[in-house]
Amino acid sequence: MPRHFDPQLVNDRFGDAGLYVDLVFQRRAVLFDLGDHANVSPRKLLRVGEVFVTHRHMDHFAGFDSLLRLLIGREKSLRIYGPPGMIEAVEHKLKAYTWNLVEGYDGNLVIRVIDVDETGFMSAAEFQGRSRFVRADCECPQYDDGILIREPDFLVRASTLDHGIPVLGFTLQERMELNILRSKVASLGLAVGSWLRRLKDAVLGETSDDSPIQVDWLDAVGRPATLPLGLLKREILKAGPGRKIAYVVDCAFTPENEGKIVALARDADILFIEAAFLDADCAVAADRRHLTARQAGWLGRKAGAKRLVTLHHSPRYKEQGELLTVEAQKAFLGG
Ligand SMILES: [Zn+2]
Repeated sequence: MPRHFDPQLVNDRFGDAGLYVDLVFQRRAVLFDLGDHANVSPRKLLRVGEVFVTHRHMDHFAGFDSLLRLLIGREKSLRIYGPPGMIEAVEHKLKAYTWNLVEGYDGNLVIRVIDVDETGFMSAAEFQGRSRFVRADCECPQYDDGILIREPDFLVRASTLDHGIPVLGFTLQERMELNILRSKVASLGLAVGSWLRRLKDAVLGETSDDSPIQVDWLDAVGRPATLPLGLLKREILKAGPGRKIAYVVDCAFTPENEGKIVALARDADILFIEAAFLDADCAVAADRRHLTARQAGWLGRKAGAKRLVTLHHSPRYKEQGELLTVEAQKAFLGG
């Protein structure tokens, strides 16, 4: 299990789709889909900084109101990403309530909503409690390659899939995993301490190799206060590829979706993917533009994902959840 991402399904496999991911290294969490989240404690929901909504069918978005109710009056920033129309949808939801008292609350809740189109272009608007949630359009940084968020520690990417309507699939990826070689730290005469976090931050922030890094020595007599980043990187850090989680729900099994899902979930540590129907009912799945369990497993295998977790089962299999899991895992393992 990725140590830095702690992903938990929001509901059982027949409930609304949703994934809560604690970014352990950041004391912050992100949420994929915003359906029924009554199973997530308020304490955990308060950690959520970003919500990634795949699409606005009710079971993926009806939880907006309860999240709003929890956050209202708090000093808090929330970013909501979704397919085109998200800004308008949030605007209408906010317009449905009366906000004459909101200015008097202690905290200012700021909701920034970002529409992501098929090309990855993002448009944004902000709604502030202090301004009675009146929409204010704003600038949005643009990135290539479907990237929505590019922070020193992690990236979030999206790809638009076809579910009869545009649906976003997402990946959350640690940019690099950095391990400190403690024995090397000691052999250089350096002490373990908070400076190592600063060193990691400098590497993740793509600081140049000749930048000086303040170090702690075991015995500082006659030692320089700083060492160049490049030297420390070479001697005491081991970099590995970052961990990756992919989240894909509500999409048809089409060649175009297949290519996009495989690219998105390539080498993921865990692929969370819908397995709505049994393959025996693939005609119904195709009609409703959902994946079968076998298709989900096959996509995970093709993407080279290390682990497959299926969710979003159709209620028609209520007593047969195991069949869906087994079918998906069998296809995933190449059976
Ligand atoms: Zn849907």
